[in-house]
Amino acid sequence: MFNALVVTKDEDSGKTSAAVSQIGLDDLPEGEVTVAVEYSTVNYKDGLCIGPGGGLVRKYPHVPGIDFAGTVEASSDSRYKPGDKVVLTGWRVGEAHWGGYAQKANVRADWLVPLPEGLDTRQAMAVGTAGFTAMLSVMALEDHGLMPGHGPVLVTGAAGGVGSVATAILASLGHEVAAVTGRPETEDYLKGLGASRIVPREELTEVTRKPLETEVWAGCVDAVAGAMLGRVLKQMKYGTSVAAVGLAGGAAIEGALITPFILRGVNLLGIDSVMQPFANRLRAWERIARDLPMGKLEAMVQPATLSDLPALGADILKGQIKGRVVVDVN
Ligand code: NDP
Repeated sequence: MFNALVVTKDEDSGKTSAAVSQIGLDDLPEGEVTVAVEYSTVNYKDGLCIGPGGGLVRKYPHVPGIDFAGTVEASSDSRYKPGDKVVLTGWRVGEAHWGGYAQKANVRADWLVPLPEGLDTRQAMAVGTAGFTAMLSVMALEDHGLMPGHGPVLVTGAAGGVGSVATAILASLGHEVAAVTGRPETEDYLKGLGASRIVPREELTEVTRKPLETEVWAGCVDAVAGAMLGRVLKQMKYGTSVAAVGLAGGAAIEGALITPFILRGVNLLGIDSVMQPFANRLRAWERIARDLPMGKLEAMVQPATLSDLPALGADILKGQIKGRVVVDVN
């Protein structure tokens, strides 16, 4: 028997509740690889799945945890053998399939990525889905021409998980980073990660009908959407790109007009981490091992255990988590 955070649903009231329980190997869903999980994390989606589900969880009881890193214990797939260190993000694990908030997980071999050299399992989860997605965003901006020296790169939701890692990666690559935050008290933290400028959230939340504003940004990693993305698009320099990652500030793009696209050739690049092909996952993890300074990563980490998860899940839905939570499931 081993520990897991199990979410159950009361069929009468429809209410869910999460608690640490003991489960056995036979309780786990089928999978080709059994992983002894060492670390998991807390992402926005985890907040939904620990709590009311947000439409992501279809069947209860459920074990959330959309990412984890650990050691292979058993494998019926020739690509993995006991002792291999692996990391998993995406593929709807922790939503449709039981996830990483347990000491063991059964998953498909296709979903795993061998841990890149230079990262241990704890560091891999300090990065987690949020950091992996931040790297996918940076790679997409680079693939569309962004280079250091082009001008300031904006990161929205900067004190959150995606934003913190994006800030650290961009700064270490030599970009000038402007960090948007609604929490002024995170200024020292964000500057420590490499931001050279703090932009108060209120500066970008007023919806305007202006077709264009002064050109400022050479690139943007946007975790917020809503009114902020509408404004940012109008402030992008000619021919530059915004990586659209998240919707912490709303699912629509408020006040957006077509003008930035057709008069300034601005690109809006959609970033999805869940269904990324294996080759690009490998590329992103290798880039993370190379381009994310581990000292800066450590500065983002808040440690936690399985029993902390119900409170942390509620916090991330309120935008109150700073940086990255690393959950030691053991
Ligand atoms: P966090 O909660 O850690 O960070 C989100 C940040 O956004 C907050 O810390 C806050 O930053 C800012 N924010 C929150 N609410 C608002 C608001 N109403 N208006 C403006 N800013 C706000 O979440 P993550 O970093 O883990 O994820 C960020 C987003 O990216 C989420 O929407 C998530 O679902 C999405 N995501 C998408 C992925 C993909 O594959 N596309 C993968 C991973 C995440 P501050 O306090 O600094 O202002």
